[in-house]
Amino acid sequence: MTRKTVLFILLGLCLFVLPPTICLGKTIKVQDNIYTVVQGEGVDSNTTFIITKDGVIVIDTRTNPAEARKALAELRKITDKPVLYIINTHYHGDHTFGNQVFEESKTIIAHENVRKMLQGQNGQNHLAFFKTFGLSGMDEVQIVLPNMIYKKRMEIYQGAYHLQLLHLGKGHTDGDTVVYLEELKLVITGDLVFADTIPYAGDGYIDSWIASLHTLHNYDIEIVVPGHGEVGGKTTLIAMKHYLMKLRNQVKQQIENGKSLEETKKIVSESLRAEYSTWKNLERIEGNVDRAFMEYSFKE
Ligand SMILES: [Zn+2]
Repeated sequence: MTRKTVLFILLGLCLFVLPPTICLGKTIKVQDNIYTVVQGEGVDSNTTFIITKDGVIVIDTRTNPAEARKALAELRKITDKPVLYIINTHYHGDHTFGNQVFEESKTIIAHENVRKMLQGQNGQNHLAFFKTFGLSGMDEVQIVLPNMIYKKRMEIYQGAYHLQLLHLGKGHTDGDTVVYLEELKLVITGDLVFADTIPYAGDGYIDSWIASLHTLHNYDIEIVVPGHGEVGGKTTLIAMKHYLMKLRNQVKQQIENGKSLEETKKIVSESLRAEYSTWKNLERIEGNVDRAFMEYSFKE
């Protein structure tokens, strides 16, 4: 039986059979000592905990302190070990605006561009953008910057765990990190992967996003913890890659046909909305087409 099969059985049991001590409500036990809090309120980003011998590594901190405290409460049901490190997979507020709740760790790790994007006026602009979503609890946010940064790759050996932090190139943003646990065939992708959900691509780079997912596709991976949505297997990653490839191909085709942005948006959105009707956040498709049109018309 593969790890993936075990995971799916566990998810099934969590939904229908097992008591909350195993499944902890919205917290999914991905493996022994690895848990992901999924389906938060508001912007539903995932937070993952890796519980090592001496303490906990937290990956992404949700949209605001109130949401982060809920995630921390989930962690405290499992362990009272201290938080050693925070990892921010990218700068977006739904992954970083809860950083202040985990400040006991003193160490927030991210790609160097995450710090740039959250620093000074950039960070304040991003916070102001998040405040337009109408979520409660945003007034409490104090931006806490990553204080340990890297450029291309970084490795952490902590207890029995070996984490590879990889910046595969531009993708969902210009500072994405995937956390790869090679020995466990597990990857925490940040927002390079949205499960069964149209991705936000407002500051994405479609071509290199596809390339990053293609690189990951070739890794030995059985479990994929996405930035948003349910934990899945490699098919979750492949589905995201295929969506982006279809977006790219269809937009390029319309540009080649001499279509305007508005015409392209209409034609491609209709096609993708029909094909991905079961996915969440279909309203993001028009924005995805906008972004792709900008990228590919610029290259022409
Ligand atoms: Zn994001």
